[in-house]
Amino acid sequence: PKPRRRLPSWLKRPMPQPEMLFTSNLIEEFQLETVCESAKCPNRTECWAQKTATFMILGNVCTRPCGFCSVPKGKTEALQADEPHRVAEAAARLGLKHVVITSVTRDDLPDGGAEHFFECIHAVRNRTGAAVEVLTPDFRGNRASISRVIEAAPDVFNHNTETVPRLYDRVRRNAVYRGTLDLLKQVKDEAPTMQTKSGLMLGLGETTEELLDVFADLRSVDCDMLTLGQYLQPTRDHLPVERYVPPEEFDELGEMARGMGFKMVASGPFVRSSYHAGEMADGAAAA
Ligand code: SF4
Ligand code: SF4
Repeated sequence: PKPRRRLPSWLKRPMPQPEMLFTSNLIEEFQLETVCESAKCPNRTECWAQKTATFMILGNVCTRPCGFCSVPKGKTEALQADEPHRVAEAAARLGLKHVVITSVTRDDLPDGGAEHFFECIHAVRNRTGAAVEVLTPDFRGNRASISRVIEAAPDVFNHNTETVPRLYDRVRRNAVYRGTLDLLKQVKDEAPTMQTKSGLMLGLGETTEELLDVFADLRSVDCDMLTLGQYLQPTRDHLPVERYVPPEEFDELGEMARGMGFKMVASGPFVRSSYHAGEMADGAAAA
């Protein structure tokens, strides 16, 4: 079927609100990048009005060509030594109790940016005492890099699966499906009490059977939390939406995933990796 031009009614979002200004001014003052903006997240009005944002470190330019993602690609930027400090200050000023840090993929750096992740996690924890969740790239499967991030002891280690393996070539080029599972397994092997989390976008042409296979694979590496959301095309140059998945279907998939043993599942059109991340982590810790 041809992708629909108009969004279905359940995908309408609120207009920007003045309450967002505190957050946007702060992001600007500390010259930080957020995935909220770079990925054109549909929840920005809601999250920013509630003084929540997801920081994106290691620059605003990515070395990977993922067909779904609007983060700029091209020549990468030099690492900024004061970025950990700026992220920590901004997190403190926002009053965040649960800080989510993600990054672009830096295949140009020998450690993929792992040391910088380590420093950001420490800076945020020392400054705020908040829980820290990282949503990391795959570090090209570099186990030493992944270990370095684990050593910083984030409360939640999130690494997205994004889509089913059949669609990796089109959606998540240069990534390896098995590598996603191996990364999540390494976290549990090295830090059994650390919560792990992964997410997928729906509406890219995957089937329910394929999704259930991925859920089973994630459970086989003891992944604790799962997020499922609707893929939205960020610009005309990005992959088209194959299907708008109705909210009821998200509910059903969420139920099936819970039945497979995930401690927390968030499933709905607007769910993103970092959406209500603090509540999810609290729920998983209590489970
Ligand atoms: Fe930002 Fe995450 Fe909220 Fe989207 S869901 S606006 S990425 S904090
Ligand atoms: Fe976007 Fe991450 Fe892919 Fe880079 S690796 S293009 S930031 S999804």
